[in-house]
Amino acid sequence: MKVFKTKTELKTYFKEIRSENDKIGFVPTMGALHQGHLSLIKQSKENNHFTIASIFVNPTQFDKKEDLDNYPKTLESDLDLLEKAACDIVFAPSIEEIYHDNIVSIHFDFDGLENEMEGKYRAGHFNGVGTIVKTLFEIIAPTNAYFGEKDFQQLQIVRKMVKKSKLNVSVIGCPIYREESGLAMSSRNKRLSEKEKKAASIIYKVLKKVVEKSSSETISDIEQWVSVEFKNHPLFDLEYFTIADIETLKTVSKLSPNSQYRAFIAVYANTVRLIDNISINT
Ligand code: AMP
Repeated sequence: MKVFKTKTELKTYFKEIRSENDKIGFVPTMGALHQGHLSLIKQSKENNHFTIASIFVNPTQFDKKEDLDNYPKTLESDLDLLEKAACDIVFAPSIEEIYHDNIVSIHFDFDGLENEMEGKYRAGHFNGVGTIVKTLFEIIAPTNAYFGEKDFQQLQIVRKMVKKSKLNVSVIGCPIYREESGLAMSSRNKRLSEKEKKAASIIYKVLKKVVEKSSSETISDIEQWVSVEFKNHPLFDLEYFTIADIETLKTVSKLSPNSQYRAFIAVYANTVRLIDNISINT
């Protein structure tokens, strides 16, 4: 496995090894890797000649400095995991390599996707995501890029950015990889206490119950039920719960037949913010 820290080294290596028809699979990450990330690597390896992962904690997508400072950084063990997963190339640039001395986002128009859910609570987050993903796509020029449904809004925003910027990259969504307890794997789980981690299985339990309820109860009753489930919980604070259309990501108040929706949730355990979602097909 080759590890590069600069664009020049990476591009020089690509020139040496890449034939015209080779498919390049790309998995962008912020490190602190877990099995969820590795499931994306696995999928990329199945469908491409080369798989490249990036590790870069992108400063412009953090709205809170505290969250950026506390983001786990575990480069050595990440490289170990990627090597074991037979990833071919890792790109782990410095902040200067990507932003030079100008750490700012490009402003994007994602047709309103950026104003829903995460966009309401994390100012500027998706401009930061768009900026880093576009920059990495331009450096790497992948054939296929793999994103987790864990961050479903991000996945749809990247699809929108690719379409609007007319980039020649296929964006592939991958299923959410979970702990046995049902808790969606996340780099942030490392910051949970044992007690919080155990109790956090409630998030997926609630989401599964929501799917069950969606065939017989109104959305407003379901929302009410979710809010009560968290209201008196000693460990978690509900930030938002919503059922939205998968294309517009707009909250719906009623489910129509033969349509695709998702239920989305964000919960705080102390200062750790956890998100999850689940598909609802009618
Ligand atoms: P991150 O390092 O958190 O930015 O995540 C990098 C990529 O891995 C993103 O596309 C995430 O959606 C994806 N990812 C993170 N956690 C999971 C998970 N539990 N299952 C599937 N994909 C995930």
